[in-house]
Amino acid sequence: MTEISAALTEGEAALTAAGIDNPRNEARLLLGHVLGITPAQVFARADDDIASANLKTYYALLSARCEGTPLAHLTGRREFWSMDFHVTPATLIPRPDTETLVELVESAFKDRSPPKTILDLGTGSGCILMALLSVFEDADGVGLDMSKDACRIASANARALGFEKRARIVEGTWEDGIDGTFDLIVSNPPYIPSADIEMLDVDVRAHEPMGALDGGADGLDAYRSLIPAVIPALSDDGMVVFEVGIGQADEVLKIASVCGLIPGPRRKDLAGIERAVSFYKKGVGIVGSRV
Ligand code: GLN
Repeated sequence: MTEISAALTEGEAALTAAGIDNPRNEARLLLGHVLGITPAQVFARADDDIASANLKTYYALLSARCEGTPLAHLTGRREFWSMDFHVTPATLIPRPDTETLVELVESAFKDRSPPKTILDLGTGSGCILMALLSVFEDADGVGLDMSKDACRIASANARALGFEKRARIVEGTWEDGIDGTFDLIVSNPPYIPSADIEMLDVDVRAHEPMGALDGGADGLDAYRSLIPAVIPALSDDGMVVFEVGIGQADEVLKIASVCGLIPGPRRKDLAGIERAVSFYKKGVGIVGSRV
């Protein structure tokens, strides 16, 4: 019989050898997933024996993880904005960086009346939309995605998190799928320059949907089509917030300015990279100025 503590040590060693960051933590998450208990319970039950079928599953997951399968695909879960999201290879795995976008929205609306209608373009798992619906309790939202599989996951997440009455998930493109007027339009579009894709970690490159990552030659293709598409759908006092890649904030700002939008606040992620940018149709939202 193998005890939980021994299995953890074994898992940590295997993950360390494979160059995985936070190996102890990942081993604990994988073992907790297999045993159906929380990571804290894994610690508390260090002396318990593991049934051999569970041990076999744990080893299989460890070896998949060592070969580069993302942890979130093995557990099927990822936390975002303190909510638990179901995740599959059909969508981008929610990232801590993307919480920067939600934080920017939260702070930008401190002095404005909260949005009643929210649109999330390329919603994927639905994590941004659900986070915003949790922040703005009177708002309804639409999550648009061209992938049927992504729409299924987003709908399942909306249901599981209790947002099914406030979130409508729609399959379509941002060129032809936008219907209605919105006070807040957000997106985390694909923005990695095509030539940089091969430099991404294998976890990302080989396991996450390329359509959610590849932003064309300079990484900005999505913004060029998104910005003209959102303007007619933006209410007069509306705000647009996008996630952007490294060094793209000024470029995205230029595209938006050419289309007549007015720049709003930006926000850096924890690594100090400008990660979220915002725009208004009118200048009313810019702190200290009216245009
Ligand atoms: N931030 C993601 C990454 O670096 C990319 C997300 C995107 O293209 N929207 O893997």
